This record gives sequence, C-alpha cells and structure tokens, in this order.
Amino acid sequence: MLTNANLMTALNLFCDDLIANKAYLSDLDSPIGDGDHGVNMSRGALALKEALIEKQPGTLSETFKLAGMTLLSKVGGASGPLYGSAFMGMSNISGTVLANSELADALQLGMDMVAKRGKSTVGEKTMLDVWGPSIAHIRANDLTTTTIKEAVDATKDLLATKGRASFLGERSIGHIDPGAASSGFFFNNLLKAGV
Ligand code: ADP
Ligand code: MG
Ligand code: MG
Repeated sequence: MLTNANLMTALNLFCDDLIANKAYLSDLDSPIGDGDHGVNMSRGALALKEALIEKQPGTLSETFKLAGMTLLSKVGGASGPLYGSAFMGMSNISGTVLANSELADALQLGMDMVAKRGKSTVGEKTMLDVWGPSIAHIRANDLTTTTIKEAVDATKDLLATKGRASFLGERSIGHIDPGAASSGFFFNNLLKAGV
C-alpha cells in the first residue's frame, strides 16, 4: 500500500542510496557507457531531497510530480529525461492511498512513459528490465529484495540495443546495466518504506 508519507520516505531513501552509491553506479557505467550515471543520479538525488523538504508536497500526485520535475531538470544525460518521465507518468494517478494493484498501475504509467520517451522495451538492457519484472511482482504481491536483485543481475547477460551501451554491440554483454542498478535502489526502497 502506498501513501504520501511512505512515498516521501521511499524517495528519501532512494536518494540516500543514489548518493551513497555514486561511485558504484558510475563504475557500472564505465565499461558500457561514459561513466557518469552515479554523478548524474546523485546530483538529482541531492536536489530532490532538498525539494522534498522545501516544498512538502501533500499528495501522492504532487510528490510524484515534484520528483519528476526535479529529476528531469537536474539529472541530465539519458537517465534524467527517462526518470523524469517515469515520475511524471506516475503523477497522473488520483487518490490518497494506493493498494498494491493500484500502485502497480501507477508504476506501469511511469514505465510506459519511459518506454515511449526512450523508444525502448523490456529486454534491451535498460532500466526497463527492472521496472517490468518488479511491477509484475508488486501486482502479484511478491516483490522482494531477491526478485529485485535477480532482475538487476539478469541485465548482465543481455545485449544492449538502446542507449550508449548499444554502441558496444556484443561487448555490452557481461556487464550490469547502470540504470537497472539505480532502478533496483528505487524498488528496494519502496519495499523498505513498507509498500
Ligand atoms: P548517459 O547514457 O546519457 O550518460 P546515464 O549514464 O545517466 O546517461 O544513464 C544511462 C542509463 O539510462 C542506462 O544504463 C539505461 O538504463 C538508461 N537508458 C539509456 N537509454 C535508454 C532508453 N532508450 N530506454 C530506457 N532506458 C535507457
Ligand atoms: Mg552515462
Ligand atoms: Mg552521459
């Protein structure tokens, strides 16, 4: 179940993980990208933590929208517009409490925006390879840290066909996708916040 209070908690914890794992996420981006995913995401995370304190959004929709606008304007790279789109998509929900099936619907709206913006789909070694399976697990009420880790780790064997990693062709195989790893932090913190 998602309330504005646990969404705020989840986003703060997500930001803390992005900041603490800045070097890790950039290291993942080094062999298959340009080595800046941690730098990009931690910049957005610092801005989002500040914005949450300053603006104190009062509804789920406002909180998703603030996250979307902040990540869109501060993260940069490919991931800024993509994460921005995800949260803007989720801001299209109404209601003050979302049951797990409604949360899955909201996350799916976000994922659809990413797919549209990125012209991408599950299986292309991107953040969508964590969003897709994790949304399915939320719908089935069986999302766990293990299922999230499995989804992140499974990107290792995938061939990248979108984003910078796709420039490497076959050489993209054997590396975890950085956006999948940062998305893993997001879903883990939904769990931690009691969703
Ligand atoms: P950039 O590639 O511009 O340096 P980042 O390093 O911050 O941006 O983000 C890279 C991540 O963005 C990738 O690991 C991948 O998960 C995600 N990504 C890139 N392109 C796409 C796309 N078209 N669709 C979905 N996700 C994408
Ligand atoms: Mg990069
Ligand atoms: Mg870059």
